[in-house]
Amino acid sequence: MQLDDLIVYHGGEFKPYPEAKLGLLTHAFNYGTGCFEGIRAFWSDDSAELYVFEPTAHYRRLAASAKLLLMDLPFVPDQLADITAELCRRNGFRSDVYIRPVLYKSEETFGVRLDDLEHDLSIAAFPNSKYLDSNEGVKACVSTWRRLDDNAEPARAKITGSYVNSALAKSEARLNGFDEAIMLTDDGHVSESSAANLFVARDGTVATPAVAHNLLEGITRRIVAQIIARELGVPVVERAIDRTELYSADEVLMCGTGVGIAWLRSLDHRIIGTGAAGPLATTVARVYDDVTRGRDTRFNCELRAVHNTPALAPA
Ligand code: PMP
Repeated sequence: MQLDDLIVYHGGEFKPYPEAKLGLLTHAFNYGTGCFEGIRAFWSDDSAELYVFEPTAHYRRLAASAKLLLMDLPFVPDQLADITAELCRRNGFRSDVYIRPVLYKSEETFGVRLDDLEHDLSIAAFPNSKYLDSNEGVKACVSTWRRLDDNAEPARAKITGSYVNSALAKSEARLNGFDEAIMLTDDGHVSESSAANLFVARDGTVATPAVAHNLLEGITRRIVAQIIARELGVPVVERAIDRTELYSADEVLMCGTGVGIAWLRSLDHRIIGTGAAGPLATTVARVYDDVTRGRDTRFNCELRAVHNTPALAPA
């Protein structure tokens, strides 16, 4: 990736990446006092168009994270979605893109606090279609690191500093020969992976950890639950899930903006189900791909066109 060629949004304007600089004493750099989003734009060959996926939902979540950190967004979510599409347009992207807005305490000052500090928004975007190489299934372990608690550093908000918790788990997993870590809450229930939500299929039922289990309320999670209910006719139950339910599951899915839809091949050296992609993973991945590229509009997802290319005439 040639970073120098990118256009980013920084300090209220579009500018080349090399001109978007931060000072050494920037509060967020020193104390992790920022919040962020991960958004994707998906390229559609059918309509020769790039679609930013669910941008308003992502900016609404950013506004909620910001509120917790005593910040506010400089524009309403709908305007930020427009700025994001404009950023993709200015970069001339014609492939899948990852978009990273960060709202951060921008003051160059000293002292741990959240109040009485200036903040600013930056948005970077770059071509990218894969976060995890998951075609063969994910080899996961349960992390020895517990998921941070709502009363310590709320996982519901996507806080930059909180991702050290995810990074500790992810690196422990990688260094021990796994691809990914599943994190438990302090009371030992399944929460989520380092950067994705989970669904567990057992004996014809599908469950996902309830939101009180210290997880990020994923936008993909919401859509996947709708896909499972509609496409497979199985309502998703939100509840507390034990670690050992995962070992005996027929399928465990991971989902998120970065990861997309992935399935666990094994957990702690136990094969999950048959060790191959099951019907849940296969169906959800196919429908999610159709939804994100505008081929399936049944789920009323927001797809904001970047280039506004007229639809291709039928051959
Ligand atoms: N949990 C965590 C910890 C994450 O970082 C992410 C990625 N944003 C998710 C879940 C999935 O959320 P979403 O579907 O909104 O991307």
